[in-house]
Amino acid sequence: MPIYKAPLEDVRFVLDEIVGLDKLSALPGYEEATPELVGQVLEEGAKLCEEVLFPLNQSGDGEGCHFENGVVRTPKGFKEAYATYIEAGWQGLACDPAYGGQGLPKLVNIMLEEFICSANLSFGMYPGLSLGAYNALSMYGSDELKQRFLPKLVDGTWSGTMCLTEPHCGTDLGIIRTKAVPDEQGGYTITGTKIFISAGEHDLTENILHLVLARLPDAPAGTRGISLFLVPKFLAKEDGTPGALNGVACGSIEHKMGIKASSTCVMNFEDATGWLVGEPHKGMRAMFVMMNAARLAVGIQGLGLSEVSYQNAVNYARERLQGRSLSGVKAPDKPADPIIVHPDVRKNLMTARAYTEGARALGALVAYHLDVAERHADPRTKRDSDEFVQLMTPIVKALFTDIGFESANIAVQVHGGHGFIWETGVEQYVRDARICQIYEGTNGIQALDLVGRKLPQDMGRLLRHFFHPVGRDIEAGMEDDELGEFVMPLAKAFAKLQQATALIAQKGLKDPEEAGAAASDYLRLFGLVALGWSWLTMVKAAKAKLAAGDGNAAFYEAKITTARFYMAKLLPQVNSLFITITAGAKPLMELEDAAF
Ligand SMILES: Cc1cc2nc3c(=O)[nH]c(=O)nc-3n(C[C@H](O)[C@H](O)[C@H](O)COP(=O)(O)OP(=O)(O)OC[C@H]3O[C@@H](n4cnc5c(N)ncnc54)[C@H](O)[C@@H]3O)c2cc1C
Repeated sequence: MPIYKAPLEDVRFVLDEIVGLDKLSALPGYEEATPELVGQVLEEGAKLCEEVLFPLNQSGDGEGCHFENGVVRTPKGFKEAYATYIEAGWQGLACDPAYGGQGLPKLVNIMLEEFICSANLSFGMYPGLSLGAYNALSMYGSDELKQRFLPKLVDGTWSGTMCLTEPHCGTDLGIIRTKAVPDEQGGYTITGTKIFISAGEHDLTENILHLVLARLPDAPAGTRGISLFLVPKFLAKEDGTPGALNGVACGSIEHKMGIKASSTCVMNFEDATGWLVGEPHKGMRAMFVMMNAARLAVGIQGLGLSEVSYQNAVNYARERLQGRSLSGVKAPDKPADPIIVHPDVRKNLMTARAYTEGARALGALVAYHLDVAERHADPRTKRDSDEFVQLMTPIVKALFTDIGFESANIAVQVHGGHGFIWETGVEQYVRDARICQIYEGTNGIQALDLVGRKLPQDMGRLLRHFFHPVGRDIEAGMEDDELGEFVMPLAKAFAKLQQATALIAQKGLKDPEEAGAAASDYLRLFGLVALGWSWLTMVKAAKAKLAAGDGNAAFYEAKITTARFYMAKLLPQVNSLFITITAGAKPLMELEDAAF
C-alpha cells in the first residue's frame, strides 16, 4: 500500500527561511496571512490530503471515470471528497474576498496544491481547472460576467474548463476552427469540437463553465484572430441557479495512460450561447493568463508527484531486506540488510530527494514573486517580480514535471519487480506524471518559449532578474570559507549557463534553428543552476539555524548533506549539457527526412 505524509516541516522551512512569511504579510491585503494562520491552514490542508484525497487515489486509478449517454461519473468517493473540499472553503483560498474568497496569498495556495497533487493528482485536476477559469475571468471578464459567475467558481458549486485543443491542433492554436457568431442578444453562438478537455463533463458540480477559444467571422488568420468566450453548460437563470441546457455536450471520454480519475472529454459545441471575455481577437492574451498560472500549477503537479514517489521509495528501501552492505553487515539479526544500505539505491533516493526539496524551494520563491507582482505598492518592484515569474514559468513547468517523472521512475526502480505491479501503487505515479510533461504546452514548447521569447525579451531584461541575484549570492558566498564546497560548483555551473546563453543569443540570431536545437538542453541547464541556487540559499539558512541552536538540528544537518549531494552528483550534468548545446543543430538536422 502506498503511503503519503504532507512534508509540513520542509514547507515550513521554505516559507520561513527561504521566502520569509513576514515579507508576505507585509504586502497590502495580506496583513492577515500571519505565520500562525498560514501554519494552521497548511496543517488542515495536509489532513484533508492525507485522510480524504489520498485514500481515493489508487481506487480512482483502478476504477477510472464512467461515460454513459453523455453523462460522466467520477469514481466512487470523489463526489463526497469534492463536497468536503468545497464545504471547507478550499476552492476560494486565494480568491478575491469580493467574490467570496479568503484572499490568502497565492504562495499558500501553491503549497497546498503540492499536497493535493501528491495525494491525488486526478482529483486536483477539477479544482485546478476551476482556478484557471477564475483567473482568466477575474482579469479579463466584464463586471457583469464577474458578478454573475465568479462567486460560483469561488465557492466551488460550479467548475471551470479550458477549451483550446481541437482534433487537428494542439500546439499550434493559430489554426483552430471553432466559430463564434454574434447573436441578437449581445452574446455569441459557438460551434465546434474541442478534444482532450479536462473536467469537460463530470458529476461533481451543478454547472460547468467552459472557457473556449473560437474565431469571429471577421477574424484575421492565425493567433491574432482568436477570441475567448465563456460558455456555461447550463444557462444561468435570473436567480443565478442553473437553467436550460446550453448547446454543449460531451461526445466521449478518453481511455488513457494515467490520471484516470480525471475526465478527459471530447466537447461538442453546437450553437451554444456564450459571452466574449476580453476584447475581440485578443483571446490569446486572456488565455495566456490562464495558461501561465496553469503552467506553474502543472510544474507543482510534477513536484507533488516527485514528493510522494520519494516518500514511497524511502519507505520501501527501509523495509526491503536484500543482500549485505558492501561495508559490512548492518542488520546481523536479520537474514539480509535493508536495501537502503546499497550505494546504488541511495543514489536513487538522494536524487529524488535533492530534486524534490530544491524544486520546492524554487517553486515557493516563484510563487512569492507572483504575490509581489500582484500586491506590492511599488510599481517597479511589481514589474521586476512579474518579469521574474515570466522568465521562470517555462522552467518551473518543464523542469519540475521532468523531475516528477524521474522520481516516479526512481520509486519503481527502488521497488524492483514489485514496483511494476499495480497493487504496490508506485507505477501509477509514472503513468500520472507522464502527462504533466505534455499538457499546458509540451516541455519542448516550454524550452522554445524560454529561448525564443523570454531570453530576447526587452534586450535580455528578464534574464537579469535571475542572473543578477545569483551572481550576487555567489560573490557573497565566496567570502565565506564554510560555503566554499557549495559556492564553487555553483559558480562553475553558472559560468556555463552564461556561456550557453551568449552562444544561443549569438548563433540563434543568425539561425533560429540553432536556438531551437539547443532549447531543451538549455532549459535543463538553466533549471539545474536554479536548483543549485536554491540549495545554496537553503544551506545558508540551515547553517544559520544550527549556529543559533534553533530548532531541529537533524533536519538542518540533512539539508546540508543533501545540498552536498546535489552539488557533487547532480549539478555537474551542466557540463554535458553545455557540450551538447555547443554541438549545434547540424547533428539533428543533417539526416534527410526521407532517410528516417
Ligand atoms: C490528459 C490530457 C488532458 C488535457 N487537458 C486539456 C485541457 O483541459 N484543455 C485543452 O485545451 N487541452 C488539453 N489537453 C491537450 C494538450 O494540451 C495537448 O495535447 C498538448 O498541448 C500538445 O498538443 P498535441 O497533442 O496536439 O500535440 P502536437 O501539437 O501535435 O505536438 C506533437 C509533438 O510535436 C512537438 N511540436 C509541435 N509543434 C512544435 C514546434 N513548433 N516546435 C517544436 N516542436 C513542436 C510537440 O512538442 C510534441 O512533442 C490535454 C491532453 C491530455 C492528453
